[in-house]
Amino acid sequence: MAQIIDGKAISTQIKEELKEKVAKMKEAGTEVCLAVIQVGNDPASSVYVNNKKKACEYIGINSLAYELPESTTEEELLALIQELNDRADVNGILVQLPVPKHIDEDKIIKAISPKKDVDGFHPQSVGALCIGQPGFVSCTPAGIIQLLKRSGIEIEGKECVVVGRSNIVGKPMSLLLLRENGTVTVAHSRTKDLKAICKRADILVVAIGKPRFITEEYIKEGAVVIDVGIHRNENNKLCGDVDFEAVEPHCSAITPVPGGVGPMTIAMLMNNCVESVEM
Ligand code: NDP
Repeated sequence: MAQIIDGKAISTQIKEELKEKVAKMKEAGTEVCLAVIQVGNDPASSVYVNNKKKACEYIGINSLAYELPESTTEEELLALIQELNDRADVNGILVQLPVPKHIDEDKIIKAISPKKDVDGFHPQSVGALCIGQPGFVSCTPAGIIQLLKRSGIEIEGKECVVVGRSNIVGKPMSLLLLRENGTVTVAHSRTKDLKAICKRADILVVAIGKPRFITEEYIKEGAVVIDVGIHRNENNKLCGDVDFEAVEPHCSAITPVPGGVGPMTIAMLMNNCVESVEM
């Protein structure tokens, strides 16, 4: 039977470690503060923002919440980001994405100071990751590396296949696996014979956004399978990009949905906030 990688337990462990660290920082007179900006009231975004606030509270990170109306202009949002960039008491700035259509997302990402870019989306952060320099790393892929390491799964020398090449998951994931000395292949919608490529993987990371797309036919016997996808199925139950029931008997370790990659994203965001002070 496959090892079920427990993202909930590992994320709790990370949050406990951070809580201790933040308490020590406080004793030494240093506070950690994250500013979270939400434009409009998309219900899914509100849930994410709320979870981030709760995690901050638990760890002892101060959080500033900016709930701006849908009608906020790009100029107004840029002005707020500039103000937060300049504030010495704010360590991290996060703009919950997506922003309304009349606002240029790229412009917003670039406006956040790379020193406060706790989401790791700024081109400077991505460039630093690419050439192995210090900088913030996108939270979901950073969380996946923690899941692997803390589950005792070696990356060095392994055939790693990442399915998906988005800027927030697939691309940084492939760079992180490379940094850990994996041999990395990145697959996407134009990849020919995806099954054959996935079947080569010792470690398969799936981030394609298609419910239960990956079946046992894509899996090498004994592979480690990391499922990034989050969907609701026809019965309103959460499921991933991987058909868990079909794949699990063939792998050595697998992340469930929910309770796998999901909880790690917020834990790594909190980690980035703490690192922003140390940086
Ligand atoms: P995107 O939609 O931005 O990217 C999907 C990627 O998958 C693209 O690179 C696309 O290729 C590729 N793809 C799509 N269809 C296929 C296919 N049939 N075969 C091979 N590749 C394909 O998604 P994200 O990376 O943002 O997210 C992926 C999933 O992860 C989603 O379900 C999302 O909800 C979830 N997610 C979960 C997080 C968490 O915390 N657990 C955080 C972020 C995302 P191409 O580039 O050619 O179009």
